[in-house]
Amino acid sequence: MSVDTWLQGVWYERARPPWWLRVLAFKYGLLVRLRTWLYGRGWLQSARVAAPVIVVGNITVGGTGKTPLVIWLVGQLRNLGLPVAVVTRGYGRSSTGRVTTDILRVDENCRAIDVGDEALLIRLRTGSPVYVSRDRVAAAQAAIADGARVIVADDGLQHLRLERDVEIALVDGQRGLGNGALLPAGPLREPAARLEGVDAIVLTEPGAGAPAGNWSGALRMSLSGELLQPVTRAALEQTLRSFSGQRVHAVAGIGNPRRFFATLESAGLQPIPHRFPDHHRYLRGELEFGDALPVIMTEKDAVKCRSIAPENCWCLPVSASFAAADERALLRRILMDARLLDILACPLCKGPLRLADDSAGKVLVCRADRLAFPVRDGIPVMLEEAARPLEPGDPLLSADKP
Ligand code: ZN
Repeated sequence: MSVDTWLQGVWYERARPPWWLRVLAFKYGLLVRLRTWLYGRGWLQSARVAAPVIVVGNITVGGTGKTPLVIWLVGQLRNLGLPVAVVTRGYGRSSTGRVTTDILRVDENCRAIDVGDEALLIRLRTGSPVYVSRDRVAAAQAAIADGARVIVADDGLQHLRLERDVEIALVDGQRGLGNGALLPAGPLREPAARLEGVDAIVLTEPGAGAPAGNWSGALRMSLSGELLQPVTRAALEQTLRSFSGQRVHAVAGIGNPRRFFATLESAGLQPIPHRFPDHHRYLRGELEFGDALPVIMTEKDAVKCRSIAPENCWCLPVSASFAAADERALLRRILMDARLLDILACPLCKGPLRLADDSAGKVLVCRADRLAFPVRDGIPVMLEEAARPLEPGDPLLSADKP
């Protein structure tokens, strides 16, 4: 049994951690609390950048659907017409030990070993600018200099140096906080009480039974994927269902591979699981199993295998989604706490908008185009079709109207 497997057992299968792990966790906890206290007292300085910052992260180690949520959030912000950039530490790149504060701008041709698998995946899925650096303040400043008006910080919950407007914490809806202990006795990077201070808690794939604890205020996010894409781009997409009944090799180098295998099983496939460490760097031989069975991997693995994957490799992109009420609640909270209504621009002329009260509720007015964009339930609809044309004399157009 590997150290990793043994630790996972201690964290998630209710085993009481051995005394020496608890001693280490106690020492780790002191350091975490000291650091938080130093930031709270202003002895360690955090830096505010010239754009709202939305942090997406978690307080546990391991995968909790963070990348799909970042991709979803970038899409939502772009729908509002906001130029958004993602800053990330770039986990899984080979140069993390060597490079200190360089800023890498991720593009489609970057390699995962240079920029990190998650960073490349976010770039490929969103097309939005992604900046990788250990110095997230510098990365955010570079993004703003390039034109970003909103920053999404991927996995920045513990990176207190970057001042933030909104914090979204993801919690694994099945494993929860495990045994609730700090590292290394449990999976927690920070004490559980940290969740009390965040703007939104998102439970990923809570399934039927929510994890232990009180999660009544949490929003629920689902992850789903139905289409398999060929990794080497030589074939058309196929539905996952079309592989139903087939034996396949299932390759996963992610924080929680069990979820991936379960997805394949629930679609009727018979996966032969192949687990690799998170951010694993694949060799071609590791994707060849001496038979002709299809190989199905996660999207995060696939971005690392584009040049080495055999023809029969497929990946399963997953997307985050929310129930309508949870989606609106999350968006409303983000819009309000990051004060995004103040920086929205007209989708037509890119000019400034003014928030005003209309008979039907709040509207965002573009005086140049004489349009009033509705704000429904706290969320603006930035579509020309949805906007109400204003007559030249309309009081909403007058300069002095508050
Ligand atoms: Zn306009």
